[in-house]
Amino acid sequence: DTIGGNLDRAVAAWPDREALVDVAAGRRWTYAEFGADVDRIAGALLGSGVRKGDRVGIWAVNRAEWVLVQYATARVGAVMVTINPAYRAHELGFVLRQSGISMLFASLAHKTSDYRSMVDEVRDACPELRETVYFGDASWEEFAARPSGGLVPEPLAADEPVNIQYTSGTTGFPKGATLSHHNILNNGYFVGEMIAYTERDRICVPVPFYHCFGMVMGNLAATSHGACIVIPAPSFDPAATLRAVQEERCTSLYGVPTMFIAELNLPDFAAYDLSSLRTGIMAGSPCPVEVMKRVVAEMNMAEVSICYGMTETSPVSTQTRRDDDLERRTGTVGRALPHIEVKVVDPATGLTVPRGTAGELCTRGYSVMLGYWDEPAKTAEVVDAGRWMHTGDLAVLREDGYVEIVGRIKDMIIRGGENVYPREIEEFLYGHPKIADVQVVGVPDERYGEEILACVVPRDPADPPTLEEVAAFCRDRLAHYKVPRRVEILTEFPMTVSGKVRKVELRERYGS
Ligand code: ATP
Ligand code: MG
Repeated sequence: DTIGGNLDRAVAAWPDREALVDVAAGRRWTYAEFGADVDRIAGALLGSGVRKGDRVGIWAVNRAEWVLVQYATARVGAVMVTINPAYRAHELGFVLRQSGISMLFASLAHKTSDYRSMVDEVRDACPELRETVYFGDASWEEFAARPSGGLVPEPLAADEPVNIQYTSGTTGFPKGATLSHHNILNNGYFVGEMIAYTERDRICVPVPFYHCFGMVMGNLAATSHGACIVIPAPSFDPAATLRAVQEERCTSLYGVPTMFIAELNLPDFAAYDLSSLRTGIMAGSPCPVEVMKRVVAEMNMAEVSICYGMTETSPVSTQTRRDDDLERRTGTVGRALPHIEVKVVDPATGLTVPRGTAGELCTRGYSVMLGYWDEPAKTAEVVDAGRWMHTGDLAVLREDGYVEIVGRIKDMIIRGGENVYPREIEEFLYGHPKIADVQVVGVPDERYGEEILACVVPRDPADPPTLEEVAAFCRDRLAHYKVPRRVEILTEFPMTVSGKVRKVELRERYGS
């Protein structure tokens, strides 16, 4: 189905149920109201000259209008390009040109970002950009009131593109994954099925909409099951998130692990009433066991689910199930969603390895992207002739069908011929009393090719662990070639906006 067709069904089935709440703006929509507003914005897009296949950019922090534009662009067959609100002018200019955006929706300003002045800075270099509309400004009111001029959306097929989403840029420069209605609508639907969403669910979405976690696993999972999307704040704020859960009686809460950690560590955490919660999703990067235990026990999220995926696969490939025990919920990223296949291959030969052996995870099914926008050569590097997506992640497929993520191929360290997985050393070093957070990377070394560096955020900045202490802690408990030979002390790690540590930056910083 198309996203518009699916929304029509939700409006018909649950007209009076709530579809969307923007807590910061104090506004709410029922499905009937939401459907009517989406139609109005779709008409305004047509009246503004947007046609099927045109690229419409959205460069904004979370707010209700973001969601309206998401569904309205889908309805008219436009391709919405989601742009990271943390991008600066030159990155915006790159995306505008790379995907040929003719109309842009943007925040006016947020925190220290002045979006309007950045758009002004790049406009002359982006000749295809005809118009920019700012949320929360007269330009939005003027746009939204535009008549369609009697135009109606052209017929659409489900396998036509609806989004270009740029990857997080964790390992290098972001790539624009082109996704169809079929890709993301099905993925949102099945993610919601796995946690049994119904029209009684209310989903708190503090993760950014520009990323598939928010717009697919949040918005599309909600509307394909008649559930309600609750936006706690324009950008992540742990207190605002828990307040929204309490006041809106949310049943589900999303986040990357660092967001849950920030919520659990609020000084007044115990004061929030989280009794309405039953489930949620943690995804995007590995989840420490201790954090998961606290989420289950202290946040009332007994059914919380772990998802693994990537932008290129709409995004989710594997997910834990409702009745999985803590071991599966922490030690694995679940098993394949319905209609998705997974296999683990030897990256050198491409042959499937035996169960229980580490190799590159490959996935196949309806969820694999159409391709990277305008980059067929890059697409061919990751999607093979059999339509298998080569994820670049190292994984183990267990006998029970559950998948364990070992790390990224690009992060793997080869020291003196031995393969070293940073994740294993990191999990071990979390147990050191002086270490609050740690990232392990490989840095060039004349003798061994690569040497092991531990980047440490100390618990007490006045008393950081020394190399001697770290090495002594590892000795006799880790193989000698896994013991860090260098330690750097940091106050924080370089992060992407989607909450991932950019190891590539650590390697650059300390690699020379
Ligand atoms: P780029 O491709 O630009 O370097 P990225 O891969 O981080 O950035 P995304 O598509 O946002 O961009 O993230 C997908 C990646 O996130 C996966 O390939 C995987 O490495 C990691 N990931 C996602 N979910 C999990 C999870 N549950 N556990 C561990 N890693 C995960
Ligand atoms: Mg990636």
